Amino acid sequence: MYMEKTFYLETFGCQMNVVDSERIVDLLNGAGYRQVEAAAGAQLILLNTCAVRDKAERKVYGHLGRFKPLKDENPAIILGVGGCVAQQEGERLLEKIGYLDLVFGTHNVHKLPELVRNVEENRTRCHETDFLDRDTRLQLFPARTAGDATTRFVTVMQGCDNFCSYCVVPLVRGRELSRPSGEILSEIGALSESGVKEVTLIGQNVNSYGCKEDGELSFARLLTEVHAIEGIERIRFTTSHPKDLSDELIDCFGTLDKLCHHLHLPVQCGSNRILSAMNRGYTREQYLGKVRRLKEVCPDIRLTSDIIVGFPGETEEDFNDTLTLMEEVRYTDVFSFLYSRRPGTAAADLADDLDPGVRQGRFDRLLALQEETCRQWREGDIGRELSVLVEGESRQGNGQMFGRTTWNRIVNFEGGKDLVGTIVPVRIVKAYRNSHLGELVPGSF
Ligand code: SAH
Ligand code: SF4
Repeated sequence: MYMEKTFYLETFGCQMNVVDSERIVDLLNGAGYRQVEAAAGAQLILLNTCAVRDKAERKVYGHLGRFKPLKDENPAIILGVGGCVAQQEGERLLEKIGYLDLVFGTHNVHKLPELVRNVEENRTRCHETDFLDRDTRLQLFPARTAGDATTRFVTVMQGCDNFCSYCVVPLVRGRELSRPSGEILSEIGALSESGVKEVTLIGQNVNSYGCKEDGELSFARLLTEVHAIEGIERIRFTTSHPKDLSDELIDCFGTLDKLCHHLHLPVQCGSNRILSAMNRGYTREQYLGKVRRLKEVCPDIRLTSDIIVGFPGETEEDFNDTLTLMEEVRYTDVFSFLYSRRPGTAAADLADDLDPGVRQGRFDRLLALQEETCRQWREGDIGRELSVLVEGESRQGNGQMFGRTTWNRIVNFEGGKDLVGTIVPVRIVKAYRNSHLGELVPGSF
């Protein structure tokens, strides 16, 4: 009797992992597996993991534990781990977790069907975490299909060469590599033909796109070419490294109408001494200078940021520099993290004698400041009429539709499904922590 094979996949971490997971789904569908929403009953269970912070890494072990009873009950289930923890731990992960079957690294997603077959047929445990050479990686950039989506992430580069002293990404994602612009543009052209209206160009540091490839476009030129693609109405990109945010790129916010008025520009910290210890390659003054230029070129631009609290050696004065920088920039949102020591990084060797209570106290002060700024921003939107690109039915499951403003803020509102893929005016009536509630402006579409 033919038994349909099913798989269950959980994804942790950044957009890169989200894109890798979409590729995993495509590959496994091609190999005859159908995705299911619950682990119980699936023949294949996969975790796509994140190693950026210790907490994220510990989560992986916690989740694996959840699947052990399923595996005990049915040893034929294949349990696999991919992503950054898999890359970092490799074979050690199989040693640590006796009931794990499969480990695949960040450069080996394409091999997954083959690896799964190997486990299935030979009942062996296996791991594949080798980094690939440049030419092979170039051939393997995931090609994106639209599905029925209105918005899509498009990978423009992979890896990172920046080696910020706290960060594990260069170790687990490998060297920076830009994808040929011709491929990116034809992919976005095809996405547009299938109904995609908004693309987000993604990579660990998109601002340095093309820098290391002979004759390649700069990132600002690439944006200009994407802007010329008919049918694409909105463009976003992430993540940006401030040191590589060129004047040419800043000017795009004034010249390219389709470029959304939002930029995620992680500062990490406001103190020059700590920025230097983090190996970030810019000063507070240079960062603030770029922010000023962005606001000149695009007065209603909204900025968001990542900030690390309690880097080794951070003093009260250093921390205050972060708070004053936040007051000056007035981010609409900040993703703040307690410093987490990552083995193998340069900062892992630094003396770290900051008291955990002090570190947590600073974190709480930073959150309180940001919460107040967020509140002012969101309440300032009440009563305003904003353009919203409608993406689909609201995830709250109450029959409402949802979309986003140019500032990437989610807006839920009553409306028909026929609005998906269109940009409509919505008046904001309520501002919640993570989304707005709005009303369609009558007679306007
Ligand atoms: N390439 C992106 C994302 C890097 S990871 C970038 O450069 O912005 C996402 C965020 O995690 C970082 O911006 C940083 O704020 C945080 N992060 C990275 N390593 C960390 C560590 N060791 N401890 C705490 N936060 C960390
Ligand atoms: Fe990590 Fe820095 Fe690279 Fe971002 S730019 S991925 S923080 S090393």
